Amino acid sequence: MMTKVILITGGGRGIGAACALQAAEQGYRVCINYLADERAARGVVDAIAARGGVAMAIKADVSDERQVEAMFRTVDDAHGRLDALVNNAGVLSQQMRVEQMSAARIHRIMATNVVGSMLCAREAVKRMSLRHGGPGGAIVNVSSRAGVLGAAGEYVDYAASKAAMDALTVGLSKEVAGEGIRVNGVRPGLIHTDMHASGGEPERVARLAGSVPMGRGGQPSEVAHAILWLLSDAASYTTGSFIDVSGGR
Ligand code: NAP
Repeated sequence: MMTKVILITGGGRGIGAACALQAAEQGYRVCINYLADERAARGVVDAIAARGGVAMAIKADVSDERQVEAMFRTVDDAHGRLDALVNNAGVLSQQMRVEQMSAARIHRIMATNVVGSMLCAREAVKRMSLRHGGPGGAIVNVSSRAGVLGAAGEYVDYAASKAAMDALTVGLSKEVAGEGIRVNGVRPGLIHTDMHASGGEPERVARLAGSVPMGRGGQPSEVAHAILWLLSDAASYTTGSFIDVSGGR
């Protein structure tokens, strides 16, 4: 039986929760990070346990270095290993133009999406790298098609943060390719989750569905399948690469 351990940031809701459920089905022991919604994270833990899987919830703000370090120590104490990291926690803010954005808002987006992903990647590499006596591993950064398309008039700060995450994927993948670690990215398009409400438009996916060549938004599970494949041994020669899960948009 597989005893691999996976840490999914922002794993209590949306795409992260779908990843957690699929990872458990594949036999991973699942560590579900969340920021504030303990109830949602507990719900995912309970759903996994009800199906005979192993899961735990860990509260931490990924933008806070001390909390990230404590989270990884919690994983160490519980499992003594880490095989896979999904940098999924991400935020966006109210739709607006760049000239309306405050520095505080831009800092918050960058702190969670960019700094948070880098801090978690740092802690994962310390544990996974052959260079540090680790067994190797795999990291997937959950970026966005916004990083390529730009999100004009909505949230260019968010798009810029996702482009930064893509550069992290490329650079880190080369840095650790010889140390047993693969680093890849997934760029979702319009996916049915709560995230659009935080931009002020809960029905955004429905409004823009017509701009998707496939004519519909995507489900979190459709993104999770790509993430789990990149983490799996089936992707053993794939690193520094990206999968767009966006219905062609
Ligand atoms: P979501 O439903 O809003 O869930 C976001 C998750 O991130 C929540 O579990 C939240 O925790 C967690 N989180 C937020 N800030 C955090 C922090 N500072 N520390 C730790 N956890 C934090 O979002 P989603 O749509 O599933 O998005 C997941 C990822 O996919 C994000 O990176 C997003 O940018 C990306 N993405 C989404 C779409 C889309 O259309 N939905 C498209 C492209 C890319 P709580 O549950 O505790 O609040």
